[in-house]
Amino acid sequence: MKTKKFLGKIRQDPLESLAKGPKEVMASLWQEYLQEVLNASQKSRRYQKVRQQIEEKANFPEIFRDWNTMDVEARAAAWKRLINAAKDVLWAGWETCVRCGECCEISSPTLLAPDLTLFQKEILTWNEVYTLRAGEQVTSREGKPETLREERLKVREVPGSHQCWFYLAATNSCRIYDDRPEQCRRQECWGDEDRVLETSELLNREALLAGAPEIWDLIRAHDERCGIGRLAQALKGLETEPDQAGEALFDALHFDHYLRQMLQQEWELSEAATELLLGRPLTRFLKDHGINAALTPEGTFRLTPRNE
Ligand code: SF4
Ligand code: SF4
Repeated sequence: MKTKKFLGKIRQDPLESLAKGPKEVMASLWQEYLQEVLNASQKSRRYQKVRQQIEEKANFPEIFRDWNTMDVEARAAAWKRLINAAKDVLWAGWETCVRCGECCEISSPTLLAPDLTLFQKEILTWNEVYTLRAGEQVTSREGKPETLREERLKVREVPGSHQCWFYLAATNSCRIYDDRPEQCRRQECWGDEDRVLETSELLNREALLAGAPEIWDLIRAHDERCGIGRLAQALKGLETEPDQAGEALFDALHFDHYLRQMLQQEWELSEAATELLLGRPLTRFLKDHGINAALTPEGTFRLTPRNE
């Protein structure tokens, strides 16, 4: 009897396609199968990592290489090997973090109360964390703009990116994985949307710096003169009461700048540590609101619109 020629319509009868089709057809059916069982975007790092684990387990390259010379029984056995490898990997823990690093590239973690111990163990230092103050505008992990109701401490990002400071892109790995912050432990990209954090769960400067009252006097003075609310009001007033608003902005800018300078020169703190104690510099806040604040050689600030 003449063998029926494979016509390439792989979705009409996948079993016939596997029995008679060339290796490219098998690869295409395999991809469809994985897409269906993994139920995740093919582009996601997590999908790629799990796929890699399955294909290594079943030795996919060997199956692909030999497919065209296999008879029907050998093809059936090879296909079964692929399916069993998928089952093993998925049952062993699809609903666990596969350490693909994708979330580490999108954002750094916000610190939660249990992360205080990471400072005690010196996994985290003042140089790796900064403060976002209440009232600051931020972008959520889902890319939505939001105004913070309360302050947050965050691990720094690699400059010019959203990538977490501790993430090593070359090896897709975390430098502190065994001691990673609580939010990283809770991260479940396979589940529903991120749970909104309750205020009581957050680590804040008050808890972190509880044993350093002398620092608190400075932080309070800074908040009084450079609070986000005061700045936002001054920005609003620039059109209606420019003199008064301008004065408030200059006062805040100078206080912020010279206090940071004092902390670095007299207390020998790093610039990064001042961003934990006082939040991000006001020059950056103004930049986000379309104003460049440049220090002149005379030691005063000059404000210009950002597009000038
Ligand atoms: S939680 Fe993050 S690192 Fe883990 S699998 Fe999901 S995206 Fe990858
Ligand atoms: S601390 Fe580690 S696990 Fe957490 S976001 Fe950074 S690199 Fe990823």
